[in-house]
Amino acid sequence: MLDTLTISIQPTTASRLGELDPANIEFGKIFADHMFAVDYADGEWQAAQIVPYGDMAVSPANSALHYGQAIFEGMKAYKAPNGEIALFRPLDNWRRLNESAARMCMPEIPEELFMQGLSQLIRLDAGWVPSTAGSSLYIRPFMFATDGFIGVRPSDAYRFMIFTCPVGKYYNKPLRVRFENKYVRSAEGGAGYAKNAGNYGAAMYPTKLAQQQGYNQLIWTDASEHRYVEESGTMNAIFVIDGRVVTPALSSSILDGITRRSVLQLARDWGLTVEERKVSVLEIIEALKQGKLNEAFGVGTAATIAPIATIGYEGTDYELPQTTANAFSLRVGEALDAIRSGEAPDPHGWMVRV
Ligand SMILES: *Cc1c(COP(=O)(O)O)cnc(C)c1O
Repeated sequence: MLDTLTISIQPTTASRLGELDPANIEFGKIFADHMFAVDYADGEWQAAQIVPYGDMAVSPANSALHYGQAIFEGMKAYKAPNGEIALFRPLDNWRRLNESAARMCMPEIPEELFMQGLSQLIRLDAGWVPSTAGSSLYIRPFMFATDGFIGVRPSDAYRFMIFTCPVGKYYNKPLRVRFENKYVRSAEGGAGYAKNAGNYGAAMYPTKLAQQQGYNQLIWTDASEHRYVEESGTMNAIFVIDGRVVTPALSSSILDGITRRSVLQLARDWGLTVEERKVSVLEIIEALKQGKLNEAFGVGTAATIAPIATIGYEGTDYELPQTTANAFSLRVGEALDAIRSGEAPDPHGWMVRV
C-alpha cells in the first residue's frame, strides 16, 4: 500500500497491551492503544493524526448529539499464522460509509484517507490483533458533526475517527427470535440502508420488549404491512428452504451487509440456488410447519453467522431442526473463517494486507 498521505503519529508512552489477556476478552470494552482522527472544516479534510486512545472535547451543541448526524462502520482485521495482518473487504466498508454520509448530508471520505488511516493505525497497534483461532481486531470507523450550532441544518464541520478493540472467538448460541408486527426498524425511503446512529437507538426499545418476553432478538418486517422479512436484529437474515438459499432482496430499508454479500457469493460458488427476493413471514411459517425450513440465521461482521433455533409468530414458538454437521450455515462460516485467517485461498481477493 502507498504511504503518500502524511499522518502525524503521537505514540502512547503508556501502552496497555500488557494488561490484555487474549484468553479473556470482553467484547467492546477494551480498546487498543491508539485512535485515528481527522477533522473536516472549510470544505476539506484537515491534517490527519494518530494519537493515544482517550476522551476528547466536543461542542455540546453539535448536531450529532441533537439531530443524529452520526454514522459508523464495523469491520475486522485478522492475523494469519505467519503474523501478517489483513482486512476483510475494507473497500466495501469505505464505499458504504460514503453512502451513509451522502444520506446524512455529511462529507465523503477519500479512499486514500480511509485506507491510510486504517492501515497506519493497525500497523501501529499490530500487537493488539489477537492470533488465537476465531479472534480478530474489531475496527470502528465513524464520523460525526462537530459544529457548535444548534440550528437544524447539516453541520459544516465533522470529525472522522477510527478506534479498534480486540475480540475473542464469538460463541454462537442458537437464538430465539420473533417476528415484530408493531414496531419498525426502517421504512422504504428512510435511512435503513445507512449505518447512521439513529437507526440503532430507535431499535433498542422494541428489542428490549422482545427480550422481556424471553427472545434474544427480533426479525424486523416491512413498515407498511409487516408481511415481509427485513432483517434479524442488526444482522441480515438468510434462510435455507428446501435446500435453496433465500434472503430478502436489498431495498432502501435493508442494510447491504458485506457478510451477506460474501455468504451469497460462496453459496453461488458452491453451485447452490440463491434467491434474493421478497420473503414473506407466511412463507417462513409454512416452511416451518412443513419441515422445509432447513436453516435460518443472521449474518454480520460481529458474529459472522448467528444460527436461529426458535422463531416466534403470533404467540406460537416454532422450533427449527438442529443444525447438522453439513449445514450450509456451518460450512459457510468455516469457509469465511478459513479465508480470513489465511488458511484457505482467497479466490475473490477479499483480504487486503495492511
Ligand atoms: C452492519 C449491519 C449489518 C451487517 O453488515 P456487515 O457488513 O455484514 O457487518 C446488517 N444489518 C444492519 C442493520 C447493520 O447495521
